[in-house]
Amino acid sequence: MNELVRPQKIGASACPHDCPSTCALEVEIFDDHTIGRVHGARDNAYTAGVICAKVARYAERVHHPDRLKQPLRRIGGKGSGQFAPVAWDDALDIVADAFTRAEQKHGSEAVWPYLYAGTMGYVMRDGIHRLRHAKKYSGFFSTICVNPAFTGFIAGTGKLAGADPREMAKSDLVVIWGTNAADTQVNVMTHAMRARKKRGAKIAVVDVYMNTTMKRADLPVLIRPGTDGALACAVMHCLFRDGKADWDYLERYTDAPHELAKHVQARDPQWAAAITGCPVPTIEAFARLIGERKRAFFRLGYGFSRSRNGAVNMHAASCIAAVTGAWRLEGGGAFHNNGGVFHLNNSVIEGTDLRDPSIRMLDQSRIGAILTGDKEALLGGPPVTAMLIQNTNPLAVAPDQNTVRRGFARDDLFVCVHEQFMTDTAKAADIVLPATMFVEHDDFYTAGGSQYILLGPKLVEPPGECRNNHEVICGLANRLGAKHPGFDMTPRQLSTCLYKNQAGARLPSLSQSAGSIASRILTPRIISTALPIRTANSASSRIGRRCRFSAGTATRSQRRCRSCRIIGR
Ligand code: SF4
Repeated sequence: MNELVRPQKIGASACPHDCPSTCALEVEIFDDHTIGRVHGARDNAYTAGVICAKVARYAERVHHPDRLKQPLRRIGGKGSGQFAPVAWDDALDIVADAFTRAEQKHGSEAVWPYLYAGTMGYVMRDGIHRLRHAKKYSGFFSTICVNPAFTGFIAGTGKLAGADPREMAKSDLVVIWGTNAADTQVNVMTHAMRARKKRGAKIAVVDVYMNTTMKRADLPVLIRPGTDGALACAVMHCLFRDGKADWDYLERYTDAPHELAKHVQARDPQWAAAITGCPVPTIEAFARLIGERKRAFFRLGYGFSRSRNGAVNMHAASCIAAVTGAWRLEGGGAFHNNGGVFHLNNSVIEGTDLRDPSIRMLDQSRIGAILTGDKEALLGGPPVTAMLIQNTNPLAVAPDQNTVRRGFARDDLFVCVHEQFMTDTAKAADIVLPATMFVEHDDFYTAGGSQYILLGPKLVEPPGECRNNHEVICGLANRLGAKHPGFDMTPRQLSTCLYKNQAGARLPSLSQSAGSIASRILTPRIISTALPIRTANSASSRIGRRCRFSAGTATRSQRRCRSCRIIGR
């Protein structure tokens, strides 16, 4: 019988992707350089042992032969993709020289550090702001993704927070609206399916096409893009009409319930059907489900951000839970994102004490107009002639791509891209620096889609000459004469700073907790739930133990027993 290859240990980590789940992970580690399969942690009540197929196979990405492994200098024409290796010190010198020249010619705002959410780790994502503040480089408003949805939700609730998403399992109706959770937020489906199995809960899904989640719904509600607000108004019309509004709740906790009832009086299902394209019987059935099942959880997704009227659509959808008073009940209420619950102190990582409010803030989404010299987009300031890009690939993801491409083709624009692979943007760069992946550096994460905070420690050595974002930022700061205590700290020290000034918060030293059994800490002033800081080795003790349930049944593809999760028996 073939012997399964056993990993040396299991390292606890956190998914770095811009996905609200921020899953707690258990990574098989074979040696100092090699990871295996990635699993969802079962001791995280939100991840509940389930992660997406993409991250389960992350070893393919970490060990991909196409990874960038050494710094490169452009030797051909702009965008030609012709590069030659260069030493790290020389590469950083070239970048620092280019930034200094840009500053001398046009002022500091000619340099534009640019990032997005390629990693959601605080240290590796946000450290670039510290360099920006220290050098008074141009900043930007982060407009590319969530603004309409966030704004709409906060407009109604006053805070970017909602019911604990784990409560979905205690609902009688889970409404998944504007997110294809079955394909992109698997954990939402975990908790919704629990409710269906254990409580007979119904699942209603609202979306603009028949995606996987819609196909699994008890009631799929198909609408035209951008018409969510009309559907929500018609649902509220039915709730008021049919006596399903909780007037006691409305009078106590909302500010204009009578005006709302009057507003939706004329917005009946016939009116909404003409706008949404959704048949009247479906709208009536949707409203009936919501009215009959008060313990309803509205999981409102990021789809609301994909239309110009997304903020009002989100606001309208989030109001339904207030009309029925679903918020009163465990398993009821609305949820979009939990960004507002953590209250971490990001000042040292971002260097906000050095922030100069007079420095211009460009619009991230208008990078094409900015790089092609649009005066309005440049806010009347100097041209952008030098950039450092981390955690994003604007040539593939920014709007108005033809203009973006023209901008990056400018001969007088110097671009340094710090990346894991030769992306479209890296191809257009003058200097390309090889970047680490999340298992190769220390970082700290908070979950937008749950209430967990997670430590993601370095588990393996990076390949070749890859360096993490923090190392690049500190290397440039040193050459550019930028001063801030954050440039002299390690990623773990910076993570600890996130907790400074948090009265009531207790965080064990990260260096102490790493390598120990996962330690639970209670931070009641931050949020009202246990926040596990998960650390390396927390699952290692399972390796080699005898399986209690199905000894010998672990298969090559499972690599572990599904029951007790002993590895490689
Ligand atoms: S579901 Fe989202 S958070 Fe979880 S592993 Fe996949 S990408 Fe990461």
